[in-house]
Amino acid sequence: MTANRHAISKNALKLNMAKDSRKHYLFASDFDKTLTFNDSGYVLSELLGISVEEFERKANGMSKLNLVQQGAELSYLLLHDPAFHSQVRREHLVEVGKNIRLKENIKQVYEILDSKIDGFHFDFYVLSAAPVEVIQSALDGIVPQDHIFGTEFKYKPSGEIESLVRATAGYGKVTRLEQLVEELGVPADHVVYVGDGNSDLHVMLQVNRRDGFTIAVSESKLVAQIAKRTVLSDNALPALVPILEEIAGWHRPQIRQLFESYGFLIQGWDRVQTDWVTLRPTGGKDEIGAPVEEK
Ligand SMILES: [Mg+2]
Repeated sequence: MTANRHAISKNALKLNMAKDSRKHYLFASDFDKTLTFNDSGYVLSELLGISVEEFERKANGMSKLNLVQQGAELSYLLLHDPAFHSQVRREHLVEVGKNIRLKENIKQVYEILDSKIDGFHFDFYVLSAAPVEVIQSALDGIVPQDHIFGTEFKYKPSGEIESLVRATAGYGKVTRLEQLVEELGVPADHVVYVGDGNSDLHVMLQVNRRDGFTIAVSESKLVAQIAKRTVLSDNALPALVPILEEIAGWHRPQIRQLFESYGFLIQGWDRVQTDWVTLRPTGGKDEIGAPVEEK
């Protein structure tokens, strides 16, 4: 019996060692338009009966002022714009999370990163400027609540938003990410960040500077220029391709096989290098942006 127990504990130790010998990475993802198809602000406006045009006008106006971090426009409106502030309660934010359209297969991405890449373990976290209630409600049962960092508000007993506790927008993402890296004890070059928009610029620059890996999931010019790789798809799984190729060293047949095991055939896989070129006529006569006439 002692020998048996010894064998069991030896096996348990082996298992632990196998687990520990895996390379530990942090996978941090933006939420709005990275894991979803639209922006929380649009879904909330719709819920409140505020027109899309009105929300866009307000959000773009905020963004032009540069008063708040990029991506924190909605939080500012929730705090200070009467149309939003007077109406919004916590339950509306939870409702937005239930209504927002998620990209498919986020759960599978979580699972693959957790345990399906031999020799690697990636901790999946969400870092977003969206209100934390929206993200937690949208990703309920997919990403654990304590792996989600969004903008936090304090509420009055009446349910009204009282103040801002912390905004995870723009540079706010950098500070939150650095805290997380320290807490998890992950080396700075074992950080992967995925994002789509201007609110991700600071954090992407920081991740690149410290030899981490950045992935853009949109053609948004600035982000795509800064990210090490860009993947465009309306499914969450393909964002794993650069990780499998460049971190885990997988080849295409292995990646195809993994996707097939999740019931997906890769139908199109085009890689193009994008050069952003803007031309302007050298002479003074032509208007800027006018098509160049062939002579
Ligand atoms: Mg986004």
